[in-house]
Amino acid sequence: MKLILLGAPGAGKGTQAEVICNALNIPAISTGNIIREALRLGTEMGLKAKSFMDAGQLVPDDVVIGIIKERLAKDDCANGFILDGFPRTIPQAEALDAMGIIIDKVIDIEVPDEKIAARMSGRRVCKDCGASYHLEYKTPESEGVCDACSGELVQRKDDAPETVLDRLAVYHEQTEPLKEFYSKKGILRIVEGQEEIADTSALTLKALED
Ligand code: AMP
Repeated sequence: MKLILLGAPGAGKGTQAEVICNALNIPAISTGNIIREALRLGTEMGLKAKSFMDAGQLVPDDVVIGIIKERLAKDDCANGFILDGFPRTIPQAEALDAMGIIIDKVIDIEVPDEKIAARMSGRRVCKDCGASYHLEYKTPESEGVCDACSGELVQRKDDAPETVLDRLAVYHEQTEPLKEFYSKKGILRIVEGQEEIADTSALTLKALED
């Protein structure tokens, strides 16, 4: 199955991508994670993306489209994949179409802006492996330490409150039009984000069956 997860930053796309990845045994591909890894390794692409990312802006389409093309060509994508954080603009969605990729379903996780800001202030990520946690909703076994690799948990620079507002504005302006784009194709499914992650996950899995 070829899936896209849509939703505002902080709506819980990454967590739901993991849920689907485990349920269907297909890779979850996060352009944000790929860019952060490139940044950590100091590659040319990472350096190009840094200023956009830090400012809460989108990285230029040609850069992320290149990343996705390369990633989807890998063997593990042969039986399907979940895209988490791509596409984020209409030209990116058109690029997927131009690549001949037929998406089966687009799951849109809806969370009101007021809740997003509060959620994002509690988000923490592992400095080493990028695993994601939350001070309230998804706590690590040991405070400040990654369960997977024992790395230090930190707040993402772009999760700072002032940057979150910019990211939400970018989402409404550039990414939200994708809802109509995919609704017209008849493949959009809406999931209302719940207080409890398990409840959202149940709705996500149900949406895959519709
Ligand atoms: P994320 O981890 O998905 O919230 O992405 C973090 C940041 O990476 C975004 O705020 C953008 O700067 C950049 N980014 C990730 N995916 C994309 C994309 N599809 N298009 C443009 N920029 C992206």
